[in-house]
Amino acid sequence: MKEKKDKSMETKVIHSGQEPDPVYGGVSVPIYQSSTFAFQSVEQGAARFAGLEKGYIYTRIANPTIKALEDRVASLENGYGGIATSSGMAAISTIIFGLLEKGSHLISTASVYGSTRVMIENLLPRFGISADFTDTSNLDNIRKLIRPTTKILFIETPANPTLVLTDIAACATLAQEENLTLVVDNTFASPILQNPLDLGADIVVHSVTKFLNGHSDVVGGIIIPRDEETYQKMHKTMTLLGGNMDPHQAWLVLRGIQTLAIRVQKSQENALKLAQFLSSHPKVAWVNYPGLPSHPQHELAQRQMRGFGAMICFGLKGGYEAGKKMINSVRVATLAVSLGGVESLIQHPASMTHAGVSQEEKEQAGITEDLIRLSVGCEGYEDLRSDLEQALEKD
Ligand SMILES: *Cc1c(COP(=O)(O)O)cnc(C)c1O
Repeated sequence: MKEKKDKSMETKVIHSGQEPDPVYGGVSVPIYQSSTFAFQSVEQGAARFAGLEKGYIYTRIANPTIKALEDRVASLENGYGGIATSSGMAAISTIIFGLLEKGSHLISTASVYGSTRVMIENLLPRFGISADFTDTSNLDNIRKLIRPTTKILFIETPANPTLVLTDIAACATLAQEENLTLVVDNTFASPILQNPLDLGADIVVHSVTKFLNGHSDVVGGIIIPRDEETYQKMHKTMTLLGGNMDPHQAWLVLRGIQTLAIRVQKSQENALKLAQFLSSHPKVAWVNYPGLPSHPQHELAQRQMRGFGAMICFGLKGGYEAGKKMINSVRVATLAVSLGGVESLIQHPASMTHAGVSQEEKEQAGITEDLIRLSVGCEGYEDLRSDLEQALEKD
C-alpha cells in the first residue's frame, strides 16, 4: 500500500490506491472482470504460488480492481491493508472465524447490528464459541465479563440503532492489558469521522454497503487490520471461507467512495439540524444524536469523532402507534432498512433490523418499541424538515 498519510481525507477518497491504468492510461480503474490470470510459464506460476513473485493468480485471492479499493480504504483508516468481502457480514464472520477457536469467548456491545448479534448468538455456539453482550459504554461492564478464554472485544460505536458510544481508546488500553483483540465496527461513523486504529484498535470492519459506497446499490464489506500479521491471518481466512468481493462490486464502490467526504459532510449538516428540529417538536418524546448536548456521551463524541454523523434515533410521545403513522406518512425519506446512502431512509428497528433479537435482549440493548431510526441523506434540508413536519402532523 502506498503511504499517503499526509494527504487530507478529501484527497485520499479520490486518489488513494489509484494510478492511471498502466496499459492504456485509463483514469478510472478498469474492471478486471477475470476469475483467473495467465502465467507466462510454469516457473512463473510456481513463483507466484510460492510468493516469490508479485502478480495475480485467482480473483478469490486477489484482483487488481479489488486491490485498488482495499488500498484506498486502508489508507483512509491508516491500516496495514484491506481485505474486501462480499458483504459486511462476510467481513465480520471472517474476523471471528479467523481469530477464534473451540472454547474461545467473545464480548460484544449489546446494541450491535442485528445480524452480528444473531450470528454470534445462534451460530457460534455450534462451534464451541461463547459470547456475552453488554453495554460497552461502561468499561466496568466489560471488565466483569473477561475470562481466561476471552479473545475478542467487539465494539460498535456509534452503535446500531441506539447511537450509544463506546470509548475506543479506553477499550484499546483494556484490550492490551487483557490480551484481547479489539475489533471496531466503524460503519456508522465512516473513516471520515473516526479512525479506530489511530485510537489503538487492532481491526476495523465496515459494511461497505453503507457510507463507503453511499448509493444503496451495492452490498459489500471490508476488514482493515492494523498490522501485517493480522492482515495475513485475515486474508488467508477470507480466501479459505470464500467471502471475497467481486471486481464489478469493487469498481462501483471505488466510484461511490470518491464523494464520501462531501456526502458525509452534507448529510451530517442535515442530521444536526434535523435532530435540533425534532428535539423542539412538541410530539417528539426524545432524540438521540451524538451532536446534541443532551446525548449522554456528547463529550466523548467530540473527543473521539471528527463529526457527529448522519444517524438519528428518536421516539414520539404517542409511542409505537404514533411512530408507525409518522413512518407511513413520510414522502421524501424512504421506508427502508440500510443506511448511509445519498437518500434519507427511515425504519423501525424493533420490528425490522432487530426483529431477530429477543424481547429481553432488545430491552437490555435499549432498542425500545418506540425507537425510529433515521439515516439522513444529502437532500435539501428544507425538504427533509418539511417532510418530517407533515408526517408528524398525521399522528
Ligand atoms: C449493515 C451493517 C452490517 C452488515 O453489513 P452487510 O453489508 O449488510 O452484510 C454490519 N454492521 C453494521 C453497523 C451495519 O450497519
